[in-house]
Amino acid sequence: MANESNGPAVGIDLGTTYSCVGIFQHGKVEIIANDQGHRTTPSYVAFNESERLIGDAAKNQVAMNPSNTVFDAKRLIGRRFDDHVVQSDVKLWPFEVIDVDGRPKVKVEYKSETKAFYPEEISSMVLTKMKEISEAYLGKSVTNVVITVPAYFNDSQRQATKDAGTIAGLNVLRTINEPTAAAIAYGLDKKGGGERNVLIFDLGGGTFDVSLLVIENGIFEVRSTAGDTHLGGEDFDNRMVTHLMKQFKTRYHKDIGKNRRAVSRLHTACERAKRTLSSSTQASIEIDSLFDGIDFYTSITRARFEELNADLFQMTLEPVKKSLRDAKMDKSQVHEIVLVGGSTRIPKIQKLLQEFFIGKELNKSINPDEAVAYGAAVQAAVLCGDTSNNVQDLLLLDVAPLSLGVETEGGVMNMVVKRNSTIPTKQRTPFTTCWDNQNEVLFKVYEGERAMTKDNNLLGEFLLSGIQPAPQNVPHIDVTFDIDANGILNVSAVDTSTGSESKITIANDKGRLSKDDIERMVNDAERYKAEDDKQRERVIAMNSLESYCFNMKSTVKDDKMDKLSKDEQKTVLDKCNEVLSWLDRNQTAEKDGFEHQQKDIEKVCAPIIKKMNLGAGGVPPRLPRDSQRSRGSQQSSGPAFEVD
Ligand code: AMP
Repeated sequence: MANESNGPAVGIDLGTTYSCVGIFQHGKVEIIANDQGHRTTPSYVAFNESERLIGDAAKNQVAMNPSNTVFDAKRLIGRRFDDHVVQSDVKLWPFEVIDVDGRPKVKVEYKSETKAFYPEEISSMVLTKMKEISEAYLGKSVTNVVITVPAYFNDSQRQATKDAGTIAGLNVLRTINEPTAAAIAYGLDKKGGGERNVLIFDLGGGTFDVSLLVIENGIFEVRSTAGDTHLGGEDFDNRMVTHLMKQFKTRYHKDIGKNRRAVSRLHTACERAKRTLSSSTQASIEIDSLFDGIDFYTSITRARFEELNADLFQMTLEPVKKSLRDAKMDKSQVHEIVLVGGSTRIPKIQKLLQEFFIGKELNKSINPDEAVAYGAAVQAAVLCGDTSNNVQDLLLLDVAPLSLGVETEGGVMNMVVKRNSTIPTKQRTPFTTCWDNQNEVLFKVYEGERAMTKDNNLLGEFLLSGIQPAPQNVPHIDVTFDIDANGILNVSAVDTSTGSESKITIANDKGRLSKDDIERMVNDAERYKAEDDKQRERVIAMNSLESYCFNMKSTVKDDKMDKLSKDEQKTVLDKCNEVLSWLDRNQTAEKDGFEHQQKDIEKVCAPIIKKMNLGAGGVPPRLPRDSQRSRGSQQSSGPAFEVD
């Protein structure tokens, strides 16, 4: 149960490429649209000379500013710099990733300075945006959240995701697996229909998860999970990009590969074409002046797209087979196959999956982009003690995605918690010493399925000292693995042979931020937010001044009643032109500068406006194009005359 029942609780699907937020209220889940009216928001953050952009605004300018537009933070979060996934991904990204004490940081230029951000900080910026989207919709502050993570995320990746939430000023009630969240969305309406074995096939922008769940009477049990943390829509985009780059080279004998902006623009066009190919059999691509002034006009068929991705599409069946094997289930025992994630709209993927399940109908009833946030929103309501009928009795059983254990003599992996064990779980195993008079033991904690620890993933290590000297095999040391509801692991060891107890909690030093780091980032996040707000106010003041000038110009020119003398008209027009040319020269001025000009021009124009008796009329002020919020602020600092 949530320890903070005050305020609303939202569910956030923090995706690799897109994020989505939902809230359970009035007995149902509402997916919250952002300020652009979109129900998913790109997990993108961009930096430039004057501001930081998050979401659609960041993604929209990626072609102009590729090296300072960061995405895919989820691929980096909780990983070490030398992780093979990081090493292979850095080659694809247009932004730079550097190694800072073994951890990856993204390097960007922001306000003429070089800055480096941890992936947690980038994700926290995306979470801040999702928080703001919820707050704008709900009209109140939002702190409590449930955030989803891929089923295959290890302890350090889950922790790092929680840290990102903390940096964004959120109270993370729980992190839950994405397929589990999707199952909640799916199963909610299906209560009471007997035991159903459900396969969740979640193919998003960057990750692929397959889970086998058993759902009965509102109880969800994850029987097995499998997947590929590096397979999704972006890979399909990349295949098309490579294909079209080759086509460009053949046609024009020019290699666009080194021109980041061109590649980025091509990428955006390919993603759009890919979406078209889910509903049409052909898509055209038209990019003006792509490279060296050459307009690139081409088209691609669905058949070609399928051929380019044939191996990747086929690969999606492997985790399906693996999860069935792990759950000891035959494909004929699967009652429902549920599609989740934008890439499941691809017809060929649906066809392969359906053929594998011998023609079984696929379940597409859940909007694939929103199912995860939907489930997270329900879970958030449950954790906040929502007692509405729809969420009552929802019990969530999750599993450990990988086996966990400690290294024993000879580098052998000794499993304490088996893969797919239901969590939360606490399991204890006895160990002893291997030498006479051994007074300390170094525990190395691993995750993975291989017999030798060298083939598994080291999570961390700790020393138990002060063991009573005794012959080998005599001391009795109990090791406890405790995984909480968030999938977060604590390991402790107790020397029971002497009766003395020494508890050690593992300090997971793998990809994890220190408390100091987090504190600093929380402060930084507040500072960046303050800077963003300042920038927003600055732009509002600038727009307000500009619209005042244009409004005044058109108002006096439109003086059909001849209320003004020629001199008065000239005074207003001269002043407006003077301020407009000042604006042209001072685009980067501070808010105060614009406000000063505003007062100045109002002083000149107000008496004349009064004479025209325009107190409640005139031309409406122009709204800045961005958000609802700017509209509110603009009115408060708006021009002297307002619309009805
Ligand atoms: P998600 O992370 O679930 O929001 O999935 C986003 C991914 O789905 C991106 O790679 C999108 O390009 C892809 N996607 C969205 N709509 C479609 C579509 N109609 N056809 C193919 N892929 C799509």
